[in-house]
Amino acid sequence: MRILLTNDDGIGAEGLQALHDALLPTCEVWVVAPDREQSAASHAITLARPLRIKERRPRWFEVDGTPTDCVYVGVNHLLKAQPPDAVCSGINDGPNLGNDVLYSGTVAAAMESAMLGVPGIALSHAGKDRDFATAARFAPALLAALVANPLPGHALLNVNFPTGAPKRFAITTLGNRTYAAEVVQTQDPRGRSFHWIGGGDAHYEDIPGSDCSAVFVDGAISITPLSLDLTDHRLLDTLRGWKVPGYASK
Ligand code: MN
Repeated sequence: MRILLTNDDGIGAEGLQALHDALLPTCEVWVVAPDREQSAASHAITLARPLRIKERRPRWFEVDGTPTDCVYVGVNHLLKAQPPDAVCSGINDGPNLGNDVLYSGTVAAAMESAMLGVPGIALSHAGKDRDFATAARFAPALLAALVANPLPGHALLNVNFPTGAPKRFAITTLGNRTYAAEVVQTQDPRGRSFHWIGGGDAHYEDIPGSDCSAVFVDGAISITPLSLDLTDHRLLDTLRGWKVPGYASK
C-alpha cells in the first residue's frame, strides 16, 4: 500500500516521525510535509507565490507551503505516476475535535486528499501526555481495515486519540469545542502594542456520541467520518419558502 504522509506541525515534528515509523513495515511511505508549523492553516492553498520543494532524503519532501499544498503537489505531481492509496495526516500534537476541524491544517490535508479522490485520514493526539505510541499503533490497524472495506469516493476520517492506551474505538459525530474568545493585548520590547488571539482554555460540551465525549469522557479512540458537503440540509425547505422582495424563488 502506498501512503502519502503529511501534517501541519512541520516536517520535523515528532508525531510525523512516529506515524512514518509505524507505517513503514507494511506500507510504501512517502512524506510530503510543510517546512515549518502550519497549525490552524485550515484549507489554505498558496496561489500568489511559487512553491519550493526540496527532497531531504529519498521519499521525504519538504514544501514551503501549507498542508493542502503538500497534498496537492504530492498527489498531482510527485506521485502523479503512482498515486497513493491513502493520505495520512498527522499525528497532530493536540486535539482536532468538534469545531477544530474548520481551523485544522491536519484535517484540511485529509480533506484535500478526499477532494482529489484519495481516501484521507487525519490523526490527532488529544491527550496531554504527548505520547504518540497509541496513535502509531492504531494507524496501521486502521489502514488494514480500510483496505478490507474501501471508503466510498471523496471520504475522509477524523481520528483523535485520548491519553493512555485504549483498546476501544468509537464512531462519533463532531461535537462542540470552543475556545475562550480572548484577545490579549500587550507590548513588544520596543513599546509597540500587539494582539494575540486563539489562546486560553478550550471547553467542550458533553454530547453523547460526539468526538469530544468519546475522547475526554470515555477515554476511547474517536473516529468521525467527515463529508465535504457543508450544506445545511435542515434549512433548504425553509429558505425555499422565503419571500425576498423583487425576486422569485425558483
Ligand atoms: Mn498542528
